[in-house]
Amino acid sequence: MRAFVAIGSNIGDRLQNIAKAVKYLGLEPGITIKKVSSLLETDPVGGPPQGKFINGVIKIETALSARELLKRLQKIESSLGRARTVKDGPRTLDLDILLYGKSIINEPDLTIPHPRMLEREFVMKPLLEIEPNIKNKWSSQKKSRKPVRRLIQRARNTNA
Ligand code: AMP
Repeated sequence: MRAFVAIGSNIGDRLQNIAKAVKYLGLEPGITIKKVSSLLETDPVGGPPQGKFINGVIKIETALSARELLKRLQKIESSLGRARTVKDGPRTLDLDILLYGKSIINEPDLTIPHPRMLEREFVMKPLLEIEPNIKNKWSSQKKSRKPVRRLIQRARNTNA
């Protein structure tokens, strides 16, 4: 299955955290890294005052289920020392599943497509860089079926 994972870090050596995470991800059985986007530095959205993030998006091919993929991402987050303390607070490493094929999953602890991805330029920009023709076909809302480029434009306009 083709999947996209968002990666972010705003504590410590952010570039090194991201480099390590990509390496660990690629070493996981059942996960092959296909593309890694450029990285961008972004201001934090929500949460307490905190440092800037470095963000990017990774395209993978995986034999794992979405839930198993989430578990592996959480394992990698923990191995880089992420402690879940403050909600939306600073983190050494954040890995989120953006898309898992065309699946729509609405479970208490797993929502795919990632619910806030369309509003986040720091997600959409790198996603479009590595997958320029991706369309928002998964959405059940008609207005969200526009090509994601237009959604990005909207995100820019609303300064999200
Ligand atoms: P965060 O602290 O922002 O990384 O949120 C982590 C929590 O979000 C975890 O408990 C996950 O179970 C949950 N979650 C829900 N949907 C997703 C998703 N698509 N990717 C990663 N985590 C998710």
